[in-house]
Amino acid sequence: MGGRRHCCKNCIVSESPYDILFEPVKIGPVTAPNRFYAVPHATGHGWHQPNGAIALRAMKAEGGWGTVAVQITEISADTDMANHPMERIWDDSDIPRHVAQVEAIKRHGSLAAIELGHGGMRARNITSGLPVIGPSSFPVLRPEVPVQAMAMNHNDISAFRKAHKAAALRAVKAGYDILYVYAAHDISILSHFLSLNTNKRTDDYGGSFANRIRLLMEVIEDTLEVANGRCAVALRFSVAEPGKTNGLTSDGEGRDVVEALAELPDLWDVNISGWAKDSATARFTEEGFQLGYTDFVKSVTTKPVVGVGRFTSPDTMVSLIKQGRLDLIGAARPSIADPFLPNKIKSGELDSIRECIGCNICVSMDSYGLPVRCTQNPTISEEWRRDWHPEAPAIISSARQSTRHHLIVGAGPAGLECALTLLKAGQQVTIAEADPLAGGRVTKESALPGLSSWARVRDYRLHQINQHANASLYLNSEMNADDIAAFECDAVVLATGATWRADGVGSSQFEPLTFGSTKVYSVDDILNGAIPASGSTIVVYDDDHFYMASAIAERLAKHGCSVSYVTPLPSIATWTDNTLEQNAIQERLHGLGVALIPNTRLHDMVKFTNVLTGADVALAIDELVFVGARTPNDKLEAKVLSINAKLPLHKAGDCHVPGIIQAAVLSGHSVARSLLAGENVLGSQRREQISF
Ligand code: ADP
Ligand code: SF4
Repeated sequence: MGGRRHCCKNCIVSESPYDILFEPVKIGPVTAPNRFYAVPHATGHGWHQPNGAIALRAMKAEGGWGTVAVQITEISADTDMANHPMERIWDDSDIPRHVAQVEAIKRHGSLAAIELGHGGMRARNITSGLPVIGPSSFPVLRPEVPVQAMAMNHNDISAFRKAHKAAALRAVKAGYDILYVYAAHDISILSHFLSLNTNKRTDDYGGSFANRIRLLMEVIEDTLEVANGRCAVALRFSVAEPGKTNGLTSDGEGRDVVEALAELPDLWDVNISGWAKDSATARFTEEGFQLGYTDFVKSVTTKPVVGVGRFTSPDTMVSLIKQGRLDLIGAARPSIADPFLPNKIKSGELDSIRECIGCNICVSMDSYGLPVRCTQNPTISEEWRRDWHPEAPAIISSARQSTRHHLIVGAGPAGLECALTLLKAGQQVTIAEADPLAGGRVTKESALPGLSSWARVRDYRLHQINQHANASLYLNSEMNADDIAAFECDAVVLATGATWRADGVGSSQFEPLTFGSTKVYSVDDILNGAIPASGSTIVVYDDDHFYMASAIAERLAKHGCSVSYVTPLPSIATWTDNTLEQNAIQERLHGLGVALIPNTRLHDMVKFTNVLTGADVALAIDELVFVGARTPNDKLEAKVLSINAKLPLHKAGDCHVPGIIQAAVLSGHSVARSLLAGENVLGSQRREQISF
């Protein structure tokens, strides 16, 4: 697929419905080789871990993304965003790192783009010690930082424009094909000048729309001047800010900006703001969810337009191009989950696409300031550190070249990933699964409201495993210790998962509780289909703090139960702040009539107290759903070893260490690589060297 055939001398007949995605697109003075555009996104590596960042982006170029963009790159020391690991191009000493990055991307025939940025009132400047700057003197747009921005005078504005031009020139010298002007996500000084909320100036940069847009227009013109036909200039702009007071809208000032600047940049890269709206999870948004805001842009400009929306379906991509809604298919998360998505479409291997599940574990790493991780792609961020490739077979040590037979017990995310990694390396694998369906927790959790895409973790792996003649998968096949010890194989991997506790033990309570006669459901009970009677009064107690309790509360409320969500922590579904879902979860539960009760601890006999005051909290309750810790299903290990102490036996995923799905996939992958390499692969890694 992807090729062309001639029906006569003058006419070419497309062989593939996806050929349109592989057409070149002219962007100002440069030409993208196809319509696949890896938009800027945080990698967590940043300027201080350049090898990892470069290898991650080069992998996308290798996988067929025609344009690969570098994340926000601080133009100067007064936009110091540390401890968020951004890229930097503060002065000429940064250029060699960017030269290496550009070369690595271009080596595969892709265009290299750089998102030059100044965070304005979202910078912190804690390490640079410089004043945070903005249009007006207000507290910075980060409540966690007790800092106020300095209102810029005309000299400051000139200095900023000069700094942006100097950074643009350095980017040209480094060889970038596309220079970005960044005015998106409310993480840009240009957005802050544009916004009625942050710009209270009374001079020629404040007040009227013409004044508030002035700096943005000047900076685009400055950048075009520096580019001088050598490279293209893109504008990244959030056309709408849903839910924000005085926010931009697609039929208000968001549209006015596009109309005012329509033909100025060479490329429009459009999205919505803030980041939680732009990178919304699959629980709350469908593929293409941004189009309703962004697709007017094509009707306003003749310049090419790139947009995002967690696109993973090739058919959707084709129809967007054909309908004239976008020119380039933008992707951050889909390019993390599958850096080879374009090449797989080109070669017709659509079933091999590892579709993003929209879980935002990648996003959560930005909160930690750490290299990105992905539920679907365990090799992300390991391209340089451990030489991992998302498609190529794992390295087999010379001592292990012969085909070995592995037994994997459990076909959840860990077992399936372990099996697939071994099969790709030519090994023989038998998988035994107790349930009638493969997939373990993702099969069950995908039935919870909004989580259907979780099943992609299973479907991608199962499909791949089924392509291998060396694979045998047995469902309805629970193995006991005798079965395992008697099985003829070279190694056994236990991937038997974990069991949710229902005894009160969770992240804030390590001693079991007694609940008297109150009916208590575990998470497994609910996932296995138990459901309280409609109309009953249920407390869902969350001492886990990720998505599970809120998803169960949602399901029970929709079933007709009267639900209270109770947690000992001060906030709801606390960890989902890292996946940008916390507000959306609260809104949804609130909309369903779920009572949200933080700071409230569960005790023996289903009593509750306020964490802050110690006072009793009276809650109506018929039945309790307890969401807390999990117990690893690892008892088979000791039993098997008591029968055959020499059997090479390993544990992967939740049965080793209960954790999130991403951790189970990474664990399964790592165990497989360790088996192939004959050593613990997570024990060795390259480390970035900072030279003095
Ligand atoms: P992980 O996230 O670590 O992959 P899961 O709980 O999703 O863990 O999957 C574990 C799988 O192992 C489940 O599908 C479960 O049915 C299966 N399993 C557990 N014990 C056995 C066993 N003794 N024999 C076969 N399969 C088992
Ligand atoms: Fe998609 Fe989840 Fe991977 Fe992020 S972590 S790219 S949302 S699958």
